[in-house]
Amino acid sequence: MPTRLRRREFLAAALAAPAVMRGMPTPKIKDVSVIATAPGGLRLVVVKILTDQDGLYGYGCGTFTQRADLVVEAVNRYLRPFLIGRPADTIGDLWEAMYNSSYWRNGPVLNNAISGVDQALWDIKGRQANMPVYELLGGKQRQGAMIYSHASGAEITDTIDSARKIMARGIKAVRLQVSVPGYAAYGSAGPRRPDAGDPIFDPYAYVRRTLQLFETARKELGPEVHLIHDVHERVPPRLAVEFAKALEPYHLFYMEDALSPEDIDYFREIRRNCTTPIAMGELFNSPHEWNMLIKERLIDYIRVHVTQAGGLTPAWKLATMAEAFQVRTAWHGPGDVSPIGHCANVTLDLVCRNFGIQEWSPSNERLDEVFDGYPQMKDGYLYANEKPGWGVEINEKAAAKYPFGSFEKGEHKDLNGGWGVVRTPDGTVINQ
Ligand code: MG
Repeated sequence: MPTRLRRREFLAAALAAPAVMRGMPTPKIKDVSVIATAPGGLRLVVVKILTDQDGLYGYGCGTFTQRADLVVEAVNRYLRPFLIGRPADTIGDLWEAMYNSSYWRNGPVLNNAISGVDQALWDIKGRQANMPVYELLGGKQRQGAMIYSHASGAEITDTIDSARKIMARGIKAVRLQVSVPGYAAYGSAGPRRPDAGDPIFDPYAYVRRTLQLFETARKELGPEVHLIHDVHERVPPRLAVEFAKALEPYHLFYMEDALSPEDIDYFREIRRNCTTPIAMGELFNSPHEWNMLIKERLIDYIRVHVTQAGGLTPAWKLATMAEAFQVRTAWHGPGDVSPIGHCANVTLDLVCRNFGIQEWSPSNERLDEVFDGYPQMKDGYLYANEKPGWGVEINEKAAAKYPFGSFEKGEHKDLNGGWGVVRTPDGTVINQ
């Protein structure tokens, strides 16, 4: 019958349409493996995904340096069997599938493992399209990302000198930290106890010393340079409120992690009391932690460690949500992010309207030996490498020369890359 024939022809055409429209065949995940390497002395975890298409593969960062072995196992023992044979091009669907497949979720080990896969899938999609990932996210909204670098010293004058050297390179924002005489400090070397016990941190001595640092820094470095300070969640909440108010005259770009994730309600107190801009979030794992802070506009910068949140996919959603509330991004960018992770950071920096600033760690010779494609910094701005995907190639033979533990000393070596504890003078353990 003609009608039936027409229907059959119509159905055949409809079934054929998606294949015609997509233009590229669907790659299937053929294998998932982990590159575990420490060329810079910090344990980096990179997930590699091979597809069934010749020469089409991708890399993703899943670095949780303090528990790196566990991320390796999470990928090898759980995600690898879960993923083999699945289509590599349904990133959002696979992210949700991985996230929900453990039922209990939002932990740093599993989120980093998911991030390794997520970023590798974005790399594959970029390589397949022959485009950098930023093109897949709509293209650049700016050419370069303003970065900040770290200045520190035993004495206030040392920190100021260190900042001057950074500024002489054209860098427009500097994080300042200083040692506290007789005590440990974050971001600047401090003495250990004579009995080689745990480091002792005095929150009150630290706040007094840091206020002296910023008073001197504004006088010596002038009004134009952007100044940042990282509290690293080390002071009690009430003191954090007082500290934020006392920093007000020095006009910081932002005060970082003034509170621990457990104490975020106190951001309301900081907001009520002062105008010091606030950045928060490098320890956050999930929307449960950042949603309230963003929607109530209690912070100015969201500072998530992209792999800790589960990779590019959730970070992009987070940035979009933050944009609606005028909260800007300041993705965590220390040495314990692999070069792939730094490429993911700069990708988000370039495509998001509400970019704020990017923490930057320089590469080094051994890191460059393993990873080719580290984003380049010039005159205080970071640039994408412009190659397809993340644009990074890994020399796996070189990576194998630097197994976990390479160049580690002290407690990092004793604790399998982990951190020890920090105590107050009476012996109480505090947040790191
Ligand atoms: Mg920090």
